Amino acid sequence: MTRDPRHDILFEPVAIGPVTARNRFYQVPHCTGSGWQSPHILAGLRAMKAEGGWAVVNTEYCSPHPSIDDTPYPMASLWDDRDIRAHALMADQVHGHGSLAGVELVLGGARMANHLTREVPLGVVSMPLATGEPFQTRAMDRQDIREVRRWHRNAALRAMKAGFDIVYVYATHDYLLSQFLSPVLNTRSDEYGGSLANRVRLVRELIEDTKDAVGATMAVAVRFSAETNGGGGGDGTPVPGETEDMLGLLGELPDLWDINVSDYSLEMGLSRFVGEGSLESYVSTIRSLTTKPIVSVGRFTSPDTMAAWVRKGLVDFIGAARPSIADPFLPKKIEEGRVEDIRECIGCNICYMGDARGAPIRCTQNPTMSEEWRRGWHPESIASRGSASRVLVVGAGPAGLEAALSLGRRGYDVVLAEATRELGGRVTREAMLPGLAEWRRVRDYRVTQLNRLANVEIYPESTLGPEDVLEVAADHVAVATGARWRADGFGTSNRRGIESLGPRESLFTPDDIMAGRLPEGRVLVYDDDHYYMGTVMAEALRGQGLETTLVTPEDAVSSWGGLTLDRWRARRRLMETGVGIVVAHELVSFDGRRARLACCASGEERDIDADSIVLVTSRTPDDALYRSVRESMEAGEKGAPKSLRRIGDCDAPAIIAAAVYSGHRYARELDTDIDRDNPLRHDRVNVETNHEN
Ligand code: ADP
Ligand code: SF4
Repeated sequence: MTRDPRHDILFEPVAIGPVTARNRFYQVPHCTGSGWQSPHILAGLRAMKAEGGWAVVNTEYCSPHPSIDDTPYPMASLWDDRDIRAHALMADQVHGHGSLAGVELVLGGARMANHLTREVPLGVVSMPLATGEPFQTRAMDRQDIREVRRWHRNAALRAMKAGFDIVYVYATHDYLLSQFLSPVLNTRSDEYGGSLANRVRLVRELIEDTKDAVGATMAVAVRFSAETNGGGGGDGTPVPGETEDMLGLLGELPDLWDINVSDYSLEMGLSRFVGEGSLESYVSTIRSLTTKPIVSVGRFTSPDTMAAWVRKGLVDFIGAARPSIADPFLPKKIEEGRVEDIRECIGCNICYMGDARGAPIRCTQNPTMSEEWRRGWHPESIASRGSASRVLVVGAGPAGLEAALSLGRRGYDVVLAEATRELGGRVTREAMLPGLAEWRRVRDYRVTQLNRLANVEIYPESTLGPEDVLEVAADHVAVATGARWRADGFGTSNRRGIESLGPRESLFTPDDIMAGRLPEGRVLVYDDDHYYMGTVMAEALRGQGLETTLVTPEDAVSSWGGLTLDRWRARRRLMETGVGIVVAHELVSFDGRRARLACCASGEERDIDADSIVLVTSRTPDDALYRSVRESMEAGEKGAPKSLRRIGDCDAPAIIAAAVYSGHRYARELDTDIDRDNPLRHDRVNVETNHEN
């Protein structure tokens, strides 16, 4: 296939100071949940982006000194020369694919508590940490500022030794430098505070220091917020003209401007709330303020939009974190005119959740993310089949589709049977709910790819019973029949179920709502699941004009959704649409007219009027088919398979990413010798080589 000429512009080389990127695809710095603890996982992940065509591949935030420590969030470090090797591992591999490697040095300010190192956090002024912890920063004096400049410079020199091509001065996202820039927070009375020229002084000095130290061979990039107060700094109040004035002073100093906004929930917003290219109005203010190359992000997956942004002069580089996670080969696919092969990011932020949990990031769309080194998984290739076997996959939700696709790619003869007319299982159903339309991409990518495989037969509208499975007489069977929402209240807070739950016709689950069985009257949505389904149900029912109240035992709406940036925007959406909210209350009973709630703190009970209840608590695996076939196998019945596995929600109900991963893993491991005792390579400190450190 050949590339669409309208996309040629994306493949032009662009100079960034002393270095040149081979095209306009730029993986901006993003967290990986690996940091200095897992250098091999990290290098494997970054190298894959370079192989996939990203001309620039950056690290995550990298600490230059122990006083910048974001534990428990994994971060990179360049504290001393012994940190160089780990970074060289990444830089060498990125170079091996013809790309540039960049490192994002960070100064933490009031956003890091230094739990690992127990250093006192340094701040523009003495202020409480933005982490909500009972610690304050020390207001930096002149000596602190001199030291911070030295640490930053030394880290840049180490980055050069590691082989990096680009080094960042990181002046946004409410870290130290944006706090210095802030007209609200920076109330210093010395030459680093007060006037705008004083507030930008530290950023300017760091750019100059870095240029002086490494500028002959490395490009210096500045990450900067296009909001009018230069980066927020804890107060969203815009100050008109500040960005223009700051860029007036700094605009020509660095080699590249990496532009974003400090509000993560907008910059890396969920597709539920924020669409592709959402920063356009912010980025458009920058072009006239600098002649230097500009990169920005926008969860771009459409090459037409990307090319339009470059053509309009908004940016010189297409920045990406999430689209490069969902598809490390996105640039190559556009280059080769294979746009339909792009695995588009769905904007769910499960990647972010991994890092927020201190674990290597995972991705709903790309099951190989972070598994490149430790399991040897490549997103675009897979080993050929281990035997000439026939495999039956029952159920075409995310798990079944991914299993069938990956088995098909391995060359197996695959039969995929699905009960319903439409493939996709839960993602097809959930995509009909408010804000979740992009979930459909999980299905669409896989169905498009499956349709190209002659060795995969797909049978929709085919509900298989145990005897049907035996009749197919496949060598291997994977049961991916999913799970159903429970209607008995069993959930995180209630391990016995709710005893008194009124008439069944007044009880609903998300499956009922998605199947079109709607409640009437006043509805109570009981969310003991704590992710998106509770708030989405409430929004959907309110959208039907029903008086709706969301009740949750947690002290926050969508508490787990805090890890994916769901929480506050979901709550705002409920408030805007007029959904009542009751937090920190358990549902005790319901009689068809009233729901009894108990306060989680005091136990005090109260009633609220409700005609129907939607229970969003937990799910039951749909594994009856699995159990029957297992019995047939054990009885040695004719047609029984040699191997049988349940995968996805049928195995253990969880997030969509877990189902995709489960299907992929099943396909990878079929006919493969897996050491069950040591299933993956463990990235860790090697005491043998490090004991002298
Ligand atoms: P997962 O997230 O694990 O992929 P889903 O619930 O999304 O699970 O998908 C399960 C799919 O399996 C659904 O599309 C459902 O219609 C299908 N299914 C369930 N039971 C059968 C069966 N006996 N035969 C064929 N398909 C089935
Ligand atoms: Fe996109 Fe979700 Fe993958 Fe993150 S986890 S890259 S948001 S699809």
